[in-house]
Amino acid sequence: KRLILIGPPGSGKGTQSPIIKDEYCLCHLATGDMLRAAVAAKTPLGVKAKEAMDKGELVSDDLVVGIIDEAMKKPSCQKGFILDGFPRTVVQAQKLDEMLEKQGAKVDKVLNFAINDAILEERITGRWIHPSSGRTYHTKYAPPKVPGIDDVTGEPLIQRKDDTAAVLKSRLESFHRQTEPVIDYYSKKGMVADLHAEKPPKEVTSEVQTVLS
Ligand code: ADP
Ligand code: ADP
Ligand code: ADP
Repeated sequence: KRLILIGPPGSGKGTQSPIIKDEYCLCHLATGDMLRAAVAAKTPLGVKAKEAMDKGELVSDDLVVGIIDEAMKKPSCQKGFILDGFPRTVVQAQKLDEMLEKQGAKVDKVLNFAINDAILEERITGRWIHPSSGRTYHTKYAPPKVPGIDDVTGEPLIQRKDDTAAVLKSRLESFHRQTEPVIDYYSKKGMVADLHAEKPPKEVTSEVQTVLS
């Protein structure tokens, strides 16, 4: 399967991805994770991306399309993939279509994590991440057994620098202005399934399973 997850920051894409990935043996390509790794490693790509990311603005289409083009060539992605956080602009969606067309492939489904903006600040400011695994916790909704510590490895959790109310505001503006048109783009092709992303995680998972079955 080739799936796209679209939704505002905090809508639950990263929480559902590992579950879908394991169930269907897909690779998980999250442009945000890849960009943060590049920023941390101070690669040329990371240096170019950092300023936009710190402000909650989108990184240029050329940079992210390049990353995705490279990542999709991995052997682990040949059976299918989950694109989490990509495409975020209509230009990115068109470029993705072109890349897949060359391989005679196409996207199967777009999962739209529909949710009211009002819920997102609490989700984002309470988010804690185990960077190396991508496991995500929430102080209220999914607390780790020991605060600040990953349940599985015992390693420390971090908070993302852009997970503040102020940066969220600009990330949400980018979402409404640049990413919502991507949902329309795929709706016209009849590919979008709307999820009730404000429901508890398990209920969202069963909605996903219904859509994909
Ligand atoms: P995204 O990847 O879309 O930005 P995440 O999956 O990281 O969102 O979720 C954001 C925060 O909200 C995390 O702290 C996560 O634990 C929590 N969360 C995710 N899904 C739900 C849900 N259905 N109900 C309540 N909290 C959730
Ligand atoms: P979230 O999980 O909160 O939705 P991400 O981790 O996907 O956020 O993205 C973090 C930041 O990385 C974004 O605010 C943006 O600056 C950059 N980014 C990620 N994916 C893209 C993309 N497809 N196009 C442009 N910028 C992106
Ligand atoms: P900074 O070092 O710029 O203050 P942060 O405080 O946002 O960065 O994050 C600390 C470290 O964790 C950085 O190396 C960052 O790249 C990494 N990181 C943050 N969020 C994630 C994530 N979701 N997945 C992987 N690595 C992450």
